[in-house]
Amino acid sequence: MKKKILLALAAVMVTASLTACGSSFTCDMCGEEKTGTSYSFKSTATGEDMTICEDCYNLVKDVMNTVN
Ligand SMILES: [Zn+2]
Repeated sequence: MKKKILLALAAVMVTASLTACGSSFTCDMCGEEKTGTSYSFKSTATGEDMTICEDCYNLVKDVMNTVN
């Protein structure tokens, strides 16, 4: 879990493209199936695309604010 948060943090620093569509998706951080807003990141660390839910995005933002 902690590793995934760090991975997301690394990704956030590069691109944050907001995708708003009606389809459901599985969050790469919490693993839950969500509908609504998804946030897509490309991780610099692994080159992986990650899709996270709004809850996890807010969590990442909080962590980033703490780090900074
Ligand atoms: Zn999530």
